[in-house]
Amino acid sequence: MADLTLSHVGKVYADGTRAVTDLSIDIGDGEFMVFVGPSGCGKTTALRMVAGLESITEGEVRIGDRVVNNLPPRDRDVAMVFQSYALYPHMTVRDNIGFSLGLRKMAKAEINRRVEHAADLLGLTEHLDRKPRNLSGGQRQRVAMGRVIVRQPQAFLMDEPLSNLDAKLRVQMRAEIGRLQRDLEVTTIYVTHDQTEAMTLGDRVAVLRGGVLQQLAPPQVLYDRPANLFVAGFIGSPAMNALEGVLERDDDRYLIRLGTQWLNIPPQVTHERPGLAARVGQPTIVGIRPENLQEASTAGQADGTSLTAVVELVEPLGADVMVHLSAGVPRPQDRADLAEAVGEPGEVVASVQDETPMVARFTARSSVAVGDRVSVAVDTERLHFFDPHTGMAVWKD
Ligand code: ATP
Repeated sequence: MADLTLSHVGKVYADGTRAVTDLSIDIGDGEFMVFVGPSGCGKTTALRMVAGLESITEGEVRIGDRVVNNLPPRDRDVAMVFQSYALYPHMTVRDNIGFSLGLRKMAKAEINRRVEHAADLLGLTEHLDRKPRNLSGGQRQRVAMGRVIVRQPQAFLMDEPLSNLDAKLRVQMRAEIGRLQRDLEVTTIYVTHDQTEAMTLGDRVAVLRGGVLQQLAPPQVLYDRPANLFVAGFIGSPAMNALEGVLERDDDRYLIRLGTQWLNIPPQVTHERPGLAARVGQPTIVGIRPENLQEASTAGQADGTSLTAVVELVEPLGADVMVHLSAGVPRPQDRADLAEAVGEPGEVVASVQDETPMVARFTARSSVAVGDRVSVAVDTERLHFFDPHTGMAVWKD
């Protein structure tokens, strides 16, 4: 086991495509690091450079105290789990798991010991003499994990290892991979486009977009303090609502005006974000997570802690309901710069005609119906603020 460092790593493919730019990440010994981002963000390329399957155009990759840029994959002492498990169909589970050890001419007894230990960890002991075709999808995935465990590498590199499994199995295997990694304490990089996998598995998560690191932080920090609109929109489901308003100040109190409505900003929120002071009178995006919008009685109207909205769509999900609302907040016009900052059109600033839609997560007890005019309480202590031009979160200046 070892720590693993990427220093100013960049990748330009032979056809000139730049896939990764100036990526610097220190991964601690035994840490579970997730690279997450939308398709094409460069996460697989970054992983393959660590594995030695792609050359490194710029910068340095270190595993332990060795710079590995020019080492072939087999000398890097890392083990990779791919999307397709690529098991050998004609070999038993035992032989599949032990295959790489056999290639290295390890003694039979030691191979058997390691294979049986891995099978025990993975609950595969009874299946050791079966062929892959007689296993379920989850069992095949475990065999693929077994193959990397027996090698006792310095690091595990996993590229979307669960994407071939159905939804239920994916959740189960996700928990198993998390448990296994904690037990074995092997430094791990795990690549996924799924923010739930990233949040549940990572000790820390690196969010990538267009080959550039957006934020590197523990999951809860990404959620509570996204560095920019892209991270705010990517982490959390449904995505954070992003409404453009104008920041105003009345003595010591700040408020955000949203169309004809407004929200008071609690003192502790402005205190944590001294950068808001410089934005008075300016367009500012307020971010509100769907779970921070709750159905309220109509009594509390216009007190700066709720918004009046019309219900556009109701999606029951069992435990809760997603309620799509329009609160008459005009959609920002001519915001090419914002679209650029956000990246994925529709992820954060979805556009329905001229209004910014909002999604609220209400409890299943809610009886709201399409067309209702409702009062929605906003947890104003959990508001987020962003600069509409740069997409950056407003904290200091
Ligand atoms: P996905 O989840 O879709 O696999 P990703 O985030 O892993 O996406 P990469 O596969 O790393 O992204 O690709 C990053 C960028 O590099 C993309 O624009 C992709 O088209 C490009 N790319 C990947 N492989 C090559 C290649 N061999 N030659 C040229 N460009 C490539």
